[in-house]
Amino acid sequence: MGRALRFASSILIASVLLAPATPTRALPLATPRGPVERLAGARPGMTLVWTGIRVTVPQPGHGVWAEAMTIDGSDHSIGLETLPTGAVVVHGAAAGGGEGAGADGGQSPCADSAYTLNGSSWQQTMRWYFNVSSTPPGVFRANAEAALRAAATNITHGVNDCHQSDQVTATVGFQGTISRGVNISTSSGCLQRDGISVVGFGNLSANYIAMACWWTVGGHTVEADIRFNKYDYRWVANPGAGCWNRYVIEAVGTHEFGHVFGLAHVSEAQHPLMTMSPIIHPCERAEDTLGLGDLDGLETIY
Ligand SMILES: [Zn+2]
Repeated sequence: MGRALRFASSILIASVLLAPATPTRALPLATPRGPVERLAGARPGMTLVWTGIRVTVPQPGHGVWAEAMTIDGSDHSIGLETLPTGAVVVHGAAAGGGEGAGADGGQSPCADSAYTLNGSSWQQTMRWYFNVSSTPPGVFRANAEAALRAAATNITHGVNDCHQSDQVTATVGFQGTISRGVNISTSSGCLQRDGISVVGFGNLSANYIAMACWWTVGGHTVEADIRFNKYDYRWVANPGAGCWNRYVIEAVGTHEFGHVFGLAHVSEAQHPLMTMSPIIHPCERAEDTLGLGDLDGLETIY
């Protein structure tokens, strides 16, 4: 069953019916690379909940997207857009690339060209701020900021261990620190966007290690917020040999920025070393460099 179908079948509103798949090319959607399903019965302003992620159906022409990193790697994601006509559609992910060496257990991320796109993309520079006062205890603020800035540029510069040059045209601009919080609720909901992209630490549902919400207008991403769960998990900026039970900010951050720039998950079983595989273990930092598929996916979009 496709992601969109699973999503739609789980929505907690009455009388939701799935219409047949809508043709994508003629519609003013965010990059229509994956399947698109119409969500009959959904209207702007309505709150939808799917396995813990809460979103409000946006106004016509707008979209709201979210992805949460879970402990067990289960896929918690949403891509919801209201067309100018008022029809609400759900974006499914589109797989691309090949299986490569990943099919035999994923030991060669540089020979594995698998990727999946979530259907969103930026047309402009992502300008973002760090909510520095949210830095968790035990992490120096400057180190947290450096790790997050590296995470963002790992995506936009296509940083990899595969000797591939940077062909990704996406751009990111760090704007400094800010006291404003992220527009993600402690109950793992995407709040109304405020026009300012903020990354920070805070509370989320206990099974979410981190969560990203991003918003589209007229088919392109205009804002993205990312929250790392510091209430249920411990974090480290520069893991050493003694690292134990702390998540690596740059590694998780690179994965989350990957979502924000349009990448969805690849199979953990087949591609465990890719940045966009859904599970990252404490002290694991392999995800802070892209695999070939991660890079191919970004180059497909940008
Ligand atoms: Zn993810």
